[in-house]
Amino acid sequence: MNLELVTIGTELLLGFTVDSNGAELGRALAAVGVRVVRRTTVGDGVDEVRDAVAAALGRTGAVLTTGGLGPTRDDLTKEVVSGLFGQPLEFREDLWEALVERYRRVGRVPAENNRCQAEVPRGATVLVNRWGSAPGLWIEGRIPGSGASGLAILLPGVPREMRKLLEHEVLPRLAPRGAGRVVRSRTLRTTGIPESSLAERIGHVEPTIAPLTLAYLPGTTGVDLRVTAWDLDEAEADRRLAAAMELLEERAPGAFGRDDADLAAVLLARLRALGQTVVTAESCTGGMVGARITSVPGSSAAFLGGVVAYHNRIKQSALGVPVSVLEAHGAVSEAVATAMAEAARTRLGADWTIGLTGVAGPDGGTAEKPVGLVWVAIAGPDGTTARELRLFGDREEVRVRATEAALALLLARLPQ
Ligand code: ATP
Ligand code: MG
Repeated sequence: MNLELVTIGTELLLGFTVDSNGAELGRALAAVGVRVVRRTTVGDGVDEVRDAVAAALGRTGAVLTTGGLGPTRDDLTKEVVSGLFGQPLEFREDLWEALVERYRRVGRVPAENNRCQAEVPRGATVLVNRWGSAPGLWIEGRIPGSGASGLAILLPGVPREMRKLLEHEVLPRLAPRGAGRVVRSRTLRTTGIPESSLAERIGHVEPTIAPLTLAYLPGTTGVDLRVTAWDLDEAEADRRLAAAMELLEERAPGAFGRDDADLAAVLLARLRALGQTVVTAESCTGGMVGARITSVPGSSAAFLGGVVAYHNRIKQSALGVPVSVLEAHGAVSEAVATAMAEAARTRLGADWTIGLTGVAGPDGGTAEKPVGLVWVAIAGPDGTTARELRLFGDREEVRVRATEAALALLLARLPQ
């Protein structure tokens, strides 16, 4: 099946928003055998949207749009597309009640202009949106004037809502129309091993997994290994992908999870399984390690808290790092990272602690201690280990990479 995308939003044309929806849709649709043959981006204007959608329907017969489904004046996708199908908008009481209920749960009342969100083109299927207020729409039928029939799928612009509706409402409806041949990928996530070392260790599997391809995708957490099956029969693609993933998992050092696995979530799951706890003592990351861990639901079962010990005075007073150690080695040193982790362990009490100190830049670097130098210490029941990191990037990159490295180092220390 072929389909065109129309992403709608003046902010996309102005470049304030990157069209991540278009990219995501291309991948997800290919994975179920639906080929995106063209992608158009237009601003929030009646004529622009009508022309783009009509042209896509004329050429390909199927179009998926994102954006312009909300309650504001610039949200006109639904009206324009229902017009193309010659269908009037009808107010749906059940949708309005669901919206009122959604607002009521957080102690609010929807505004009068939200009422238009409960209007649906006659004959359309509503794609229920449990993640936001504007439902998606599936409109299929004859297009007056052309005599041909067409399919228009309307999704909200908010990436999270678009993604959820795609997964739960759109893909299950589209998959049966795919050709049966799919482009599908699986990802093995690794951390702590540079791309080049990883390639040395697993490069030889490439001929073994062919015709599947292997891509190395470096990011801040580590290197993702993506295996892709191209244009294969669905069952064969899945079988080959499963075998390739097993092979890679056996061989790849630093592998911590598959697909969307989150390093912090994996770490927490392990701590919970062990019944153990963690506390952080952070300097240059300013609490980012704690923030990463607490972003995972249920983190309170293993994360007790932390100290942001930025200034040396706080390293002394809140953690108990001895002045002598700070003076002898300087704040960014193995000795101070170790002292932070150990002091946190005795003072705050946890099975594991992370001590982290570094030079995030852009200022403060020296020849001996350049920007990007970070020391991470992990203190635990079996002693303390420290690791020196030399990180690339600007201030934010250094902080993010240091945070991920700290999570990875603790994960590596936990008993299997
Ligand atoms: P809402 O109910 O929030 O108004 P909507 O369906 O009308 O939803 P838009 O108003 O077009 O969607 O966009 C909502 C948000 O989603 C904006 O912040 C916008 O930047 C973002 N967004 C819209 N389209 C895309 C896209 N193609 N890729 C990434 N982000 C997008
Ligand atoms: Mg909007």
